[in-house]
Amino acid sequence: CGIVGYIGQNDTKEVLLNGLEKLEYRGYDSAGIATLNEEGISLTKVKGRIAALRERVDSSIQATMGIGHTRWATHGVPSITNAHPHQSASGRFTLVHNGVIENYKDLKKEYLQDVSFVSDTDTEVVVQLIDKLYQKHQDTVEAFRETMRLLKGSYAIGLIDVEDHETLYVSKNKSPLLVGLGDGFNLVASDAMATLKETDQYLEIFDKEIVLVNRNFVEVQTLEGSVVERKAYTAEIDA
Ligand code: GLU
Repeated sequence: CGIVGYIGQNDTKEVLLNGLEKLEYRGYDSAGIATLNEEGISLTKVKGRIAALRERVDSSIQATMGIGHTRWATHGVPSITNAHPHQSASGRFTLVHNGVIENYKDLKKEYLQDVSFVSDTDTEVVVQLIDKLYQKHQDTVEAFRETMRLLKGSYAIGLIDVEDHETLYVSKNKSPLLVGLGDGFNLVASDAMATLKETDQYLEIFDKEIVLVNRNFVEVQTLEGSVVERKAYTAEIDA
């Protein structure tokens, strides 16, 4: 299982599909991508291989941001409905997640009694909760941070807010995730292998940090909202 995310001027869907192909070795049962452009979110999911996903993705789609996922099901059977990305009921937020949310039932009971869920995943609770807390704060970063503070378990998360074409929101805890830095683009992935074609400059993300990924800059924050300075490093890996 793995995630990838991209923001920048290159062919987003191609970067995502290439990245997911590089993550195939981690094992998965289904896969999906979401891309964002002026028309909104475009979502494609399949049960099965990345080659099948590639076939299903609209080859004409132009996008400047996107997220992709290979799923190894832990909650809910492998199916298109349970495949990621998942969306909030309002349609505003779209999210990919690797890992296990241990307290998803408690969160659902405490915050999301009035929300109708479409999947059987622990993951859907996360995206619905971000939407719920967005309604309270009217601020996506605050809603994202508060949601991450409430989660127990492991996660690598990539989030798109359909109203914000400048920022890809990511966070991690006990699941791998790193940022790859490019010229006019930035990307995130579970594994440097997924980004080698694009860059050899990386930024490490530590547990319980969020990262706001813009095409020209990256901001690391704690879950309390203080900005963290982080230096990039050059990775020398043989592809
Ligand atoms: N727990 C999530 C699910 O079952 C994510 C699994 C994964 O890491 O791929 O959908």
